[in-house]
Amino acid sequence: MGEFDLIQQYFSKPSQRADVSLSIGDDCAVTQIGANDTLAITTDTLVCGTHFLPNISASDLAYKSVAVNLSDLAAMGASPAWISLALTLPKIQHNWLAEFSQSLFAILNRYHVDLIGGDTTQGHLSLTLTAQGILPKGKGLFRHKAQIGDWIFVSGTLGDSAAGLDLLLKNGNLSTESYRYLVQRHLRPTPRVELGLALNAFSCCAIDISDGLLADLGHILKKSQVGAELYLEGLPLSQHLLSVYENQAEQFALTGGEDYELCFTVSNDNREKMEQTLRSQGIKVTCIGKITPSTSGLILYKNHQIVPLPQQGGFDHFK
Ligand code: ADP
Ligand code: MG
Repeated sequence: MGEFDLIQQYFSKPSQRADVSLSIGDDCAVTQIGANDTLAITTDTLVCGTHFLPNISASDLAYKSVAVNLSDLAAMGASPAWISLALTLPKIQHNWLAEFSQSLFAILNRYHVDLIGGDTTQGHLSLTLTAQGILPKGKGLFRHKAQIGDWIFVSGTLGDSAAGLDLLLKNGNLSTESYRYLVQRHLRPTPRVELGLALNAFSCCAIDISDGLLADLGHILKKSQVGAELYLEGLPLSQHLLSVYENQAEQFALTGGEDYELCFTVSNDNREKMEQTLRSQGIKVTCIGKITPSTSGLILYKNHQIVPLPQQGGFDHFK
């Protein structure tokens, strides 16, 4: 049993309340808070040894714990507003806490988000953050809204984070610019908040890539009951990734986790206007494929030839 079957079997129940617009199963839940706005809510836990290496700096840990939560808000097209922080610490270390809180407030200030509560306990190091954002009523980017014929896009470049983690695990020499770039992409992913907000005008379907492109696109396909074709020659890969991992770059891009880029769909009618608007805002996105009927499943093409799906799926805590 994987984590998603576990959630489905034990926790995913029909809503009792009319003010829950969207419950378990997407990047955020969405609830009604008034006549014009809805609230997008997400929680993510980071456990030492599972989500971060024990030697991570306090500053990188604070940054990443906020960034991964803001990324879920971005994937809904929500504007981030508030977070709560539940922090479990083995012991009080003032240097560590000072560095942690300074970095925490730096990223919160950058996105105009307030820390409004939380909990502090003693135990193995772990963090649970709940982030809340505002979504104009009737807007939002949902996993179940992809339509046959839509184009599939991703933001930024893919695979850098998995490569950065690989370098950290190998304890490699981080002296070259490319090594440093990839490690930074792993430690300091950019939540695509501005992109999520801009997409509300053109799209209604997105997910953030936390578990790997194929796994996360798979969630869109399953929820929307559609298939997809991807054109691998068009995958956006950074020069740094290609220079260090020429042979593994594509594998990292397809199945590596924690890029926190957005994968989204857009109709043919909206494509050109969307591309123009994002270009004018300096936001990089790349078309990587097309939504097809569910009977076709997921097909990967490289230069018009079908290539097999990689064996290794995305990240699942229980598989
Ligand atoms: P994400 O990667 O976007 O954070 P997850 O894959 O972790 O989302 O979770 C999938 C869905 O299941 C989300 O809607 C999440 O809120 C929900 N979920 C996860 N664990 C639980 C739980 N223990 N109880 C209720 N809902 C859960
Ligand atoms: Mg998500």
